Amino acid sequence: MSPILTISGLHKSFGELEVLKGIDLTMQQGDVVSLIGSSGSGKTTLLRCVNLLEDFEKGSIELAGQKIGYREDGAGQRRRLPEREVARQRSMTGMAFQQFNLFPHMTAIRNVMLGLIKTKNMPKDEAREVAQKWLERVGMAARSDHYPGQLSGGQQQRVAIARAIAMNPQIMLFDEVTSALDPELVAEVLAVVRDLAVEGMTMLLVTHEMRFARDVSTKVVFMHQGRIHEEGTPDEIFGAPKTERLQGFLANSE
Ligand code: ADP
Repeated sequence: MSPILTISGLHKSFGELEVLKGIDLTMQQGDVVSLIGSSGSGKTTLLRCVNLLEDFEKGSIELAGQKIGYREDGAGQRRRLPEREVARQRSMTGMAFQQFNLFPHMTAIRNVMLGLIKTKNMPKDEAREVAQKWLERVGMAARSDHYPGQLSGGQQQRVAIARAIAMNPQIMLFDEVTSALDPELVAEVLAVVRDLAVEGMTMLLVTHEMRFARDVSTKVVFMHQGRIHEEGTPDEIFGAPKTERLQGFLANSE
């Protein structure tokens, strides 16, 4: 089976600061990969590169067999693809953020329908059906006519996840989707993500929820200072961490 995602030798700097120092990562369809590591180790930046929200200087990212973001011109120069092409490639991924970013003046279902109509050119009735189906999947069907302001943070996040998944991406990217939530709302969002994982959705996620990462992941990747420091199955990473750095990190995040 050919991989869904292949990241090779990825380097990314912000000015002088090199944030990603050569990342290699391969994911097959149905893989659930959790990125863990201290704050500042480059996890979010890596996710944003896959979503083409950040450009990168070196290395490549292949999504469903397609190199994304860049091409080489006739003279062998690396060029960023035109924004229209980037937008098309970006739509192969779905991303959920710490902040849910729902449009406040639109109901939950309108939020989910918007991309289907605007980007996928779906007729309104069909978009409504698809949106309702996904709202149901995240347990939000009964509140589809509520505005974001009438929903709890956990409910808003579930709508945001439905909105991303409704677009039928090849891979879902989750960036600390529970960090902005009150503790009592974390479980309902993690339950939705867990269900999607069990159903075989391919996911790359950044999380501080170690128990959750251990539970849902097919692979766990520990990042440190812009590099993959250790990776393995959840049992290897949490049950038998090899490096002192990972042992220390896990001891501190209990
Ligand atoms: P993590 O997700 O592991 O906490 P990040 O990817 O958010 O790490 O950040 C990695 C490093 O990159 C940090 O030192 C952070 O300050 C820096 N960084 C992230 N985004 C920017 C930006 N837009 N401009 C400058 N520096 C950034």
